[in-house]
Amino acid sequence: MKVKYDKDINIKYLTDKKVVVIGYGSQGYAHSNNLKDSGFDVTVALRESSSSFQKTTAADLKANTLDNAIKETDVVMLLLPDEKQAEVYKNHIEPHLKPNASLAFAHGFNIHFSQIVPRKDINVFMVAPKGPGHTVRSTFTEGSGVPCLVAVYQDVTGDAKEIAYAYASAIGGGRAGVIETSFKEETETDLFGEQAVLCGGTSALVQAGFETLVEAGYAPEMAYFECLHELKLIVDLMYEGGINTMRYSISNTAEYGDLTRGNRLITEATKQEMKKILNEIQAGQFANEYVEDCKNNYQRLNQLRKNNQQHPLEVVGEELRSMMPWIKKKPLVDKALN
Ligand code: NAD
Ligand code: MG
Ligand code: MG
Repeated sequence: MKVKYDKDINIKYLTDKKVVVIGYGSQGYAHSNNLKDSGFDVTVALRESSSSFQKTTAADLKANTLDNAIKETDVVMLLLPDEKQAEVYKNHIEPHLKPNASLAFAHGFNIHFSQIVPRKDINVFMVAPKGPGHTVRSTFTEGSGVPCLVAVYQDVTGDAKEIAYAYASAIGGGRAGVIETSFKEETETDLFGEQAVLCGGTSALVQAGFETLVEAGYAPEMAYFECLHELKLIVDLMYEGGINTMRYSISNTAEYGDLTRGNRLITEATKQEMKKILNEIQAGQFANEYVEDCKNNYQRLNQLRKNNQQHPLEVVGEELRSMMPWIKKKPLVDKALN
């Protein structure tokens, strides 16, 4: 697999192009600010009533309403929540986008699961940062970046892939590495990663560890530090040098416990369940279930979200973090900015 870096990428494919970023959420905020700082012509497209107009003005970004922004543009990056994209595509992009322009995504969900069937006379590509939007911005301002995946679904101009690479470079991806994939591969691996390991698996592991200690009579404060706070310190070591570096840094006692106990938790049965989760993704079952819940006013999502927000781990965590002001000094998420 070929990994490309800034030196391998020709950003000229994006120069002289008008780029519109739709949405100013987690990814929209990062893409638009990074594109501007890289010297590209970018406009943020928002709903007429959007409260983000103030935030884009404060960030010195051009902004316009959806219909007005799309007409003149060469590249449209669609950064709305996945479940909102099809409606906005149908009503605001499809009628206005010029032939031979490019429609871009940061995740393959809508194209891969046919929620959007794009017009045949436009390029369709993806630039998917492998990290949260706020980190795409914070790493960029520090001079580094988040690795990106690129993929092409439709190429009418013959250079869709080059435009995608140039875009990835402009948002900082070329500093960390850009690899080519397909919409199918990105969608399935992204959903699997967030469900089994990054979000689903990790949150459930942290909560179960916290509950086990608290139910055994240990102080919630202790349990919080042990199972959540320290996780970042351990993951930082893994990020720097893999599991090997983490194991080099921890005590021999911790390493022995790790190597003899870890696989009692993540067992063959856990892996079987992971395979089931992957099968549901591949079969489109997860996508259907999610789209159904969205149509149902997010009934299940809202209920689950509410239950989890009130978990004792969150309550004690808020208290403890207020005693560690350095955590909030340079926050990754600043709700005043986006
Ligand atoms: P988000 O939820 O943070 O932001 C979406 C923005 O769109 C919000 O500002 C919201 O107010 C606005 N919005 C919602 N409905 C709208 C509508 N009907 N019309 C106009 N604006 C509307 O979204 P996000 O998490 O940045 O996700 C955007 C895309 O990026 C998705 O395809 C997602 O899968 C992908 N992605 C996200 C992340 C991430 O870190 N969040 C990482 C990789 C890829
Ligand atoms: Mg995802
Ligand atoms: Mg220890």
